Amino acid sequence: MLKTISNALSKVFGGSNDHQEPSSSTEQPHVTSVNKQVIGEEEHRIARRYLDDNALKVAYRLQDAGFEGYLVGGCIRDLLLKKKPKDFDVATDAHPEEAAELFRRARLIGRRFKLVHVRFGRDLIEVATFRASHDSQNQTEEGEQGKQCDSGMILRDNVYGTIEDDALRRDFTVNALYYCPKDHCVYDFANGYSDLKQGILRMIGNPEERYKEDPVRMLRAARFAAKLDFKIDPQSERPIQSLAPMLKRIAPARLFDEVLKLLQSGHAVKSYQQLQRLGLFEPLFPQVQALLESSAIDDVPLERLIENALRNTDRRLSQRKSVTPAFLFAAILWYPTQLRMQQLMRDNKMPPLPALHEAANQVLGEQVRSTAIPRRFSTPIREIWEMQLRLPRRQGNRATRLMEQPRFRASYDLLLLRETSGENLDGLSQWWTDYQNADEHQREKMVQALGKSDKPRRSNRRKKSRKD
Ligand code: ATP
Ligand code: MG
Repeated sequence: MLKTISNALSKVFGGSNDHQEPSSSTEQPHVTSVNKQVIGEEEHRIARRYLDDNALKVAYRLQDAGFEGYLVGGCIRDLLLKKKPKDFDVATDAHPEEAAELFRRARLIGRRFKLVHVRFGRDLIEVATFRASHDSQNQTEEGEQGKQCDSGMILRDNVYGTIEDDALRRDFTVNALYYCPKDHCVYDFANGYSDLKQGILRMIGNPEERYKEDPVRMLRAARFAAKLDFKIDPQSERPIQSLAPMLKRIAPARLFDEVLKLLQSGHAVKSYQQLQRLGLFEPLFPQVQALLESSAIDDVPLERLIENALRNTDRRLSQRKSVTPAFLFAAILWYPTQLRMQQLMRDNKMPPLPALHEAANQVLGEQVRSTAIPRRFSTPIREIWEMQLRLPRRQGNRATRLMEQPRFRASYDLLLLRETSGENLDGLSQWWTDYQNADEHQREKMVQALGKSDKPRRSNRRKKSRKD
């Protein structure tokens, strides 16, 4: 029987949603028009040495050619918050073709949203032309450059405008801050500076319309709230629960990229909590959410496994260790796959391995309708799952051979997570931990000790099935 979503949510977070609805009298009007403020260097205190040299080169080159050129978006937001920006973006009034001509290593990309990528070795600077909102254009022109479908979703976003137009079509006020390398001032058109100081994430314009234009903005709200530790403005938050299903219309490849930004940027646990709180996890992982809300959840520690996997990912990233989407997806989708496999064994009398293969096909086949999973990740996911069936079988020289498998490490990590999350595996992960730490002689003894304890258990099982 399905439990209610609010039940599931309070289960996930172990408490009530303490978000307080403000009274309407305290609500601020939507940011729909420009209120230009120039914030000087003595106020914003962005040290020039933290500005990316290549982004500055691009902005200067644009300005030298008679165009405008600003550093904009997340980089300015993050520098104001004393965080290291992930990337530096440049905004300009030059059209993409005009901008591309100014740089030797420039490439025009995108159709839905045309951009210029300027390469400096391994570094990439994204140059975007000022955009305007679609309703600021007349209908015939809009058909060429911009396109919206009946639900309001933007299908093409190449309607150009001024810096003021550009500020208002950005998503959150804190993402609409422009740094001018000429006067070193930050230009704020949407009260983003004040929101940033107060830790508020506020959608520019009418939030409902802006989410309908691009539902991915809802995921961005969850991500920035987690990453920046910001509170989502109540008016910006309110439409999200009911519009969440619109994410099902977004291309799975784009959602895969967004999932990685949410779960592989060092704040996965908080992002997951925000996704759950806002009802955004379901459109990304419908099978997992269905299981979280079903009675089968009493048999498997699904929530704990997900949270532990995400905590692990955050920890590895903070230690500058590598992470792979294959492990993350293998962990998140493990219990839906395991339960499907058990069902196939029970109902279709399939042996474990073919049942696992079939379950993997079904679960991954279903998942790629929400988020793509490129083949370079889906193959290792299957291998990590298959290893879960092989890791208990350690007799003879099997243990040594398993350790030589390329997926051993990730598979052992998943096994460890399963057991620490509450699955009873008879201490199997501890055995593997000890085995890896043991010398040759100790390993032999460990395997010998197994032989005795494992065989009777196997024959018992056989006897039992014969009786059945
Ligand atoms: P980060 O790079 O840390 O993930 P960011 O804010 O820089 O965060 P990007 O995806 O790099 O995010 O986008 C750069 C800027 O482009 C944003 O700050 C925002 O102003 C604008 N932007 C990006 N995506 C959208 C969107 N879907 N709708 C409106 N504006 C957007
Ligand atoms: Mg960015």
